[in-house]
Amino acid sequence: MNSFPEASVQSLHDAVRTVQDFPQPGIAFKDVTPILLDPVLFRQAVEALAEPFRNAGVTRIAGIEARGFLFGLSLARELDVGFVPIRKQGKLPWRTYRMEYDLEYGTDCMEMHMDAVVEGDCILIHDDVIATGGTAAAAAKLIQEAGAELAGFSFLVELNYLSGRKRLASDALIGSVLRFDE
Ligand code: AMP
Repeated sequence: MNSFPEASVQSLHDAVRTVQDFPQPGIAFKDVTPILLDPVLFRQAVEALAEPFRNAGVTRIAGIEARGFLFGLSLARELDVGFVPIRKQGKLPWRTYRMEYDLEYGTDCMEMHMDAVVEGDCILIHDDVIATGGTAAAAAKLIQEAGAELAGFSFLVELNYLSGRKRLASDALIGSVLRFDE
């Protein structure tokens, strides 16, 4: 699906820093900030994210707080569409739709402004990393309950070993640029 040059994908893969035991023991955290430091890598990352969705009829990108904003805004610019911030509870100033979702311990809540998507919109959800997929699945519910269609999901990094994509709709278009097996 992704016809992006293999050499660029390898450079991006090499730039992701794995930080063991952050933010808690047992987690291998994928730190994408080294990509942001390098304008060539950053441009390649945005182009690779955009590639599978150039003809997908996307009308807006919905980026998930906070690291979904890092590349999501540039992805929206690249596809020439608007950007919707999906934020944690209590951060957005106006009327919101909200979605509660389960975490390993307890629940969390995400919100989106009520005018951020309208019927007929075709929304691409973006986050930097898909781990278990719970966050992206909740974002999809939020978008669908607001009456919009889903164009798919876009991630810079996919953690294959957590099988997060299984939590997303089986017919969804899922773009992930870099896949990690550990
Ligand atoms: P998920 O388990 O897919 O719901 O991931 C929850 C959120 O935490 C997502 O926004 C991911 O970007 C982030 N996340 C989870 N695991 C990692 C990880 N190993 N490295 C970096 N970010 C992570």
